[in-house]
Amino acid sequence: MIFSRIIAIGSACRDFIIDLLFPAACLGCGRSGAWLCPACRRGLRPADHDCPHCQRPEPNGQFCPACAPAFHFRGLWAAGDYSQPLMAQLIKSLKYHNIRELADILADLMAEQAKEIAGRTDFYPNQAGRAPLLVPVPLHPKRQRQRGFNQAELLAEKLRDKLAWSTDASHLVRVQSAGAQAKLSGAARAKNLRGAFVWRGDGLAGQNIILVDDVATTGTTLNECAAVLKKAGAGEIWGLVAAK
Ligand SMILES: [Zn+2]
Ligand SMILES: [Zn+2]
Repeated sequence: MIFSRIIAIGSACRDFIIDLLFPAACLGCGRSGAWLCPACRRGLRPADHDCPHCQRPEPNGQFCPACAPAFHFRGLWAAGDYSQPLMAQLIKSLKYHNIRELADILADLMAEQAKEIAGRTDFYPNQAGRAPLLVPVPLHPKRQRQRGFNQAELLAEKLRDKLAWSTDASHLVRVQSAGAQAKLSGAARAKNLRGAFVWRGDGLAGQNIILVDDVATTGTTLNECAAVLKKAGAGEIWGLVAAK
């Protein structure tokens, strides 16, 4: 108890010192006061809702009928477009420059997407009325120690507060590290990731799930996670990312 209070005070002091040394300035235009000013926020382009694999127009981000059989999740909800430099900068600054306040800003945009699309589909609220469970894509423990945090987990925590859904960040586990995943082609990525994730929780008994990550490129990582969750009994699964 005392120990956790000391840690909390310590981290509040650390945040205060960081704020003094590095006052927030908009990553888009440099105006001081916030990491993203209202004008630059309005300039962020929302992502399209096309099929995440072949880019065929779809209304809600789901895989088109031709691509759907190859995936264990139904589709992808993305708040923004990674090709927009400001969106890429927001994500990189969270991940590599440790500006954790950005998780709150990105989760705001993601929550808007999730509410809008979930309301248009039968995903939630559905007949069962059971809220979906937010599950962040896990990092390998070694990578998480190096970075000090998992950005997907931070986003999921913020989304939980904004959407009043629950989150489970402890039972989907990464047991193999990625290696140089970014440099591999789609098929090689899938092969490289096989067996990388395991579910160490109880059976999911039809629970609908939203897999949370910062970025999706080919959807391979989300698909591997979704396969594992389906095997554990999950119901319908969607991906939710800050940008694609
Ligand atoms: Zn700005
Ligand atoms: Zn498609």
